[in-house]
Amino acid sequence: MPIPTNQPGQTAPAADGKPPLPQFRHFVDGQFVDSLNGATFDDMNPATDELLATVARGEAQDIDRAVQAAKKSFEEGPWARMPIKARCDKLREIGDRILERREALALAETLDTGKPITESLEGDIPRAAQNFHFFAEAAGQLHEESYTIDPMERHFTSREPLGVVGLITPWNLPLYLATWKVAPALAMGNSVVLKPAEWTPATATMLAEIMQEANLPPGVFNVVHGFGPNAAGEALTRHSEVRAISFTGENATGQAIMKVASETLKKLTFELGGKGATVIFEDADLSQAVPTAVRAAFRNQGQICLAGSRLFVQKSILEQALPEIVAAVQAIRVGDPLLPETRMGSLISREQFEKVLRYVELGKQEGRLLVGGEPISPAEGLGKGYFLQPTVFTNLPNESPICQKEIFGPVLPIIPFETEQDAIDMVNSTRYGLSASVWSRDVNRCHRVSQGIRAGIVWVNCWFARDLRTPFGGMKASGIGREGGRYALEFFSEAKTVAYRYQ
Ligand code: NDP
Repeated sequence: MPIPTNQPGQTAPAADGKPPLPQFRHFVDGQFVDSLNGATFDDMNPATDELLATVARGEAQDIDRAVQAAKKSFEEGPWARMPIKARCDKLREIGDRILERREALALAETLDTGKPITESLEGDIPRAAQNFHFFAEAAGQLHEESYTIDPMERHFTSREPLGVVGLITPWNLPLYLATWKVAPALAMGNSVVLKPAEWTPATATMLAEIMQEANLPPGVFNVVHGFGPNAAGEALTRHSEVRAISFTGENATGQAIMKVASETLKKLTFELGGKGATVIFEDADLSQAVPTAVRAAFRNQGQICLAGSRLFVQKSILEQALPEIVAAVQAIRVGDPLLPETRMGSLISREQFEKVLRYVELGKQEGRLLVGGEPISPAEGLGKGYFLQPTVFTNLPNESPICQKEIFGPVLPIIPFETEQDAIDMVNSTRYGLSASVWSRDVNRCHRVSQGIRAGIVWVNCWFARDLRTPFGGMKASGIGREGGRYALEFFSEAKTVAYRYQ
């Protein structure tokens, strides 16, 4: 199935009689452009290891070109100055246009990531549209303060855009997470430079096409593709005209960004790694808890920061729960990401696949393999893809790297616990603090446990439920700051006080 091209006519020359490849170019000042030095890199389909597209490879000079365009649009263009309603109407239009292109975007996302098409169609892409619809609404309702000192003196605060902001996003939920930052940043009147992950350049490019079709003023939205360290991402964090960086990705990258961004004192928000826990108490409704815990562990091949990648089960029900967990895991259909019945597709890359396999080998040595544990080739033509069975271990000590490190793959350790306090202590034993999901019919217990867990979000008898008005982000090493609702709108703006003395 062909990946949609980002621009009619922008295709690489055909090689060995195959159809021409799409080219994903940067989007700067309202136009698609090549890298200034003409460099490109390859975008691969991880399910087949086939070349999908060539991508412009951005360096510092490409970032500078985009930042200068963004700065000009911010200082001279209409975007930051237009009435909030007009800006929000434009964001709603962009959300609508994403929905109109839902199938093409979902296909591109699946080809780029290896994730099941159903997840792209029903999860990632509608959520990307929702991000625009939501922030269009939320920005219109953001309230500002005014204080009356006496009848002749009043102090009021307003929120002003920051200027040029840099958005750096990962590969696991490409359009979903990019729009989670782009929509509030634009809603507040900023101009943005988006740097998508090297593995997943497709939908960011298609978003640029949508912005162009929607006649967003040139320079307000820019995309610069990049490849690896010392390239576009770093140049964006270093640029003196960039006022803020919103980053989602790995902790080590966050540390590198913080160091570089400190040179120009940028405002930062970080959404980093996680080691989410599912905690099932003996009084939980297992018919709900088990399938949800399994989905939490293996959705998107386990490559979700909010994944329930540790499963704590109360000892008294362990014998009963294990066969139910095994049955639910065995029922997961690993297969061609393009088939609607597929529930698990390919991991993102060879690098990630090999990293996950090393953890699987370690698990086999340190614990007991309950189910899975082998790479597979689910169908003809997918032999070179990065497919792995959903894998569950028991008998691992909580100190094992499998229970402590963010594997970001389909590997789930099951860890028994006896008391509420044991569960809380073990959940809190990792360096991360992003999410947890607690299952029990006892509302008081749920309250005590959710209070004890150090995480940015705790779900009770559910997982992955998100109201976009609520703050999202991690405690401990899982992040700095919060996004979502007014938290994102506040991040992407400055508060200013003006004190009036009337004459
Ligand atoms: P990375 O940190 O490797 O990459 C994220 C982005 O940062 C990419 O665009 C990358 O570019 C860029 N980048 C790499 N090096 C630098 C640098 N020195 N300066 C600036 N930018 C840089 O993360 P992954 O893409 O591997 O994503 C997986 C991670 O994201 C996991 O740890 C996961 O937990 C986390 N995540 C967190 C979420 C949260 O909300 N807390 C949500 C989703 C994911 P390039 O691709 O070119 O290297």
